[in-house]
Amino acid sequence: MLRIGRRFLCQIQIQHARHCHVPSSSISNPRLRLLTTMATPVASSSEPPQTAPTQDAKKAKETKEKKAKPAAASAFPLELQPPPAFFDHRLKIFEKLKAEHDEFVKAQPREDIIITMPDGSERKGKSWETSPMDVAKEVSKSLSERIVIAKVNGELWDLERPLEGACKLELLDFEHPEGKRVFWHSSAHVLGEASERHYGCHLCLGPPTDDGFFYEMAIEDRPVSATDYPALEKVSEAVIKEKQKFERLVVKKETLLEMFNYNKYKKYLIETKVPDGTSTTVYRCGTMVDLCVGPHIPHTGKIKAMMITKNSASYFLGDASNDSLQRIYGISFPDKKQLTEYKAFLVEAAKRDHRRIGKDQELFFFNEMSPGSCFFLPHGTRIYNTLLEFMRAEYFKRGYQEVISPNMFHSKLWETSGHWQNYKDDMFSLDIEKETWALKPMNCPGHCIIFGSRDRSYRELPLRMAEFGIIHRNEASGALTGLTRVRRFAQDDTHVFCMPSQVEDEISALFDFMQHVYGTFGLDFQLELSTRPDNFLGEIKTWDHAEDQLKNALEKQYPGKWEINPGDGAFYGPKIDISVRDSLRRSFQCATIQLDFQLPERFDLKYRGEDTTNPETRPVMIHRAILGSLERFIAIITEHFAGKWPFWLSPRQVVIIPVAVPYKDYASQVCERLKSVGLFADVDNGSDTLPKKIRNGEIAQYNFIIVVGEEEMNTQSVNVRNRDDIGSKVRAETIPLDEIAAKLVALKSSRSLHNKL
Ligand SMILES: [Zn+2]
Ligand SMILES: [Zn+2]
Repeated sequence: MLRIGRRFLCQIQIQHARHCHVPSSSISNPRLRLLTTMATPVASSSEPPQTAPTQDAKKAKETKEKKAKPAAASAFPLELQPPPAFFDHRLKIFEKLKAEHDEFVKAQPREDIIITMPDGSERKGKSWETSPMDVAKEVSKSLSERIVIAKVNGELWDLERPLEGACKLELLDFEHPEGKRVFWHSSAHVLGEASERHYGCHLCLGPPTDDGFFYEMAIEDRPVSATDYPALEKVSEAVIKEKQKFERLVVKKETLLEMFNYNKYKKYLIETKVPDGTSTTVYRCGTMVDLCVGPHIPHTGKIKAMMITKNSASYFLGDASNDSLQRIYGISFPDKKQLTEYKAFLVEAAKRDHRRIGKDQELFFFNEMSPGSCFFLPHGTRIYNTLLEFMRAEYFKRGYQEVISPNMFHSKLWETSGHWQNYKDDMFSLDIEKETWALKPMNCPGHCIIFGSRDRSYRELPLRMAEFGIIHRNEASGALTGLTRVRRFAQDDTHVFCMPSQVEDEISALFDFMQHVYGTFGLDFQLELSTRPDNFLGEIKTWDHAEDQLKNALEKQYPGKWEINPGDGAFYGPKIDISVRDSLRRSFQCATIQLDFQLPERFDLKYRGEDTTNPETRPVMIHRAILGSLERFIAIITEHFAGKWPFWLSPRQVVIIPVAVPYKDYASQVCERLKSVGLFADVDNGSDTLPKKIRNGEIAQYNFIIVVGEEEMNTQSVNVRNRDDIGSKVRAETIPLDEIAAKLVALKSSRSLHNKL
């Protein structure tokens, strides 16, 4: 199934992790591109080692212990003996061509060239001889050791590939996003080589991802298992130790087909991606020759630490009707210390896993009777509703109008909007009275109906139509993950209908809104503008004008702090993607701001303009969400706060504990008082001991624990312990009840991140 709809209308709420990159930038097949957007793998195929039926109980226990330490469990040899025949077959062709290539390079004229560095300084070199690495060594040894890839005239270039003429040269290290991608992509080759040597598998694609890389492969009659990881790591280690060079060659299509004749996947890629009569590149490292446009790190020895992280099942080109494949994921670093830090990060991330906190704090859960649709429990619902209240309060201040549109629409509407042609597979459709209907995957078409329901005047614009509509998207069951990938969710969705001249001001206002919202949660964010793609619809003039307005707004508010992603806009308009960064410095895409010239056209939306000679004009539509999917946003902030909710958002704000039985009534009174001013207060009048009750309150993450006894009762006061202030537990401060109630209300309305009275 081709899930092309992912890139279709209103991508406001993209539930996927950010796109990863295929090694071959020349891949133009949308199927292949889409495959790479599936950053979240489908269910793991890894299986525990089989326990033989003859084992007695003691032996079974031993096997169980071995599962925890899979190193000893694999019965397979480290490497196939003899190695697969295709190793030799590929290498013979490679070596012959390489000798020819070396002759060619030798024969090229050596001319003096000028190499311009990023700071404007110039260095001398010889064409077809001097490589970026030579230049780096000239600058300093430490630089040459640190860098992983070069950029020549803006194009990534292998460090040891000779320069062919005068050029601008940049040298990138692992910390540079492009350097990191090259590093991880190169590591995928190492994993590929190890996998070929261990399994004799047929490799497909090995791209870098946002947190490492994977290689996808077909292995006959053997599922990948976690018990294979140590063997793969061991072979990888040997590959790294050998400091295998990445050698590049340009090869003609017909030779490529011969070179990879044993592998139907590579053959498919060559046949469909490389036009007849042209060439592409292959890279060799060690025994492996791989179809790849590169570039790579100079040699495998640059990798100082590498780890296999997980495996999963997938389909060739992401299409369930194709062969089933297996993916192995890994991560690598140029420094051992970084792997240690990464492992610590994984431990911290696991502690913060929203699924775990959701269970511990009884916030939400899932049930197989409705996969991908969350059950929010009372305390989770408090968080959900507090988010809505927050957004509604902002809507009120910022001139938004909330609407409620239907959940189910006739297929005719989806034909008008274009969803039926492009997004049908991602929608849930129903047959009712012999007609086809579908649950909405987006609110936009419904809002177009509202806009078009009566005459509109330019005086009404901009019209900011907001809805927390429930939407359904048919995600594959294997792809569903906690609250981050669901089938049913709500967005803080808004469509702004405005005049073309109002776009810039609207975008500025959206930035202000966004900054306020993310700031409230203490989330950083990054902005990226995606411009006109090749398959754009409409007039170039309209596009240019819209892009200029977006650029102006970005530059005005975030000078120099946004990035441009040329040609990556939706076909119906340019967009700004916003990704937030949480307290663990992880990035998530929450919001997009998308300009749309097409939906107003499809729905024939008009407004009466100021100009009486041209009475009817099309509005521009801006799709926007800030939180994105509320479900996904709750997952993000659960992990961001590690379950320690700021007071205003906390589902458990205060617990009142009496020091002994005689003060139970007073504890209840205090609780009622705090509830009456709108706080989430509970009283613990159970039979546990006082220390146990306090401990329970701490585990439940109550922001404040109020303890009351004789003195408090007599003076109508309370004793307050602050969750985030250890000292408050011993200070035993007594505060009048009226005062604490007022202070807590003030703290709530301040929406402060700090739990401070
Ligand atoms: Zn490669
Ligand atoms: Zn929309």
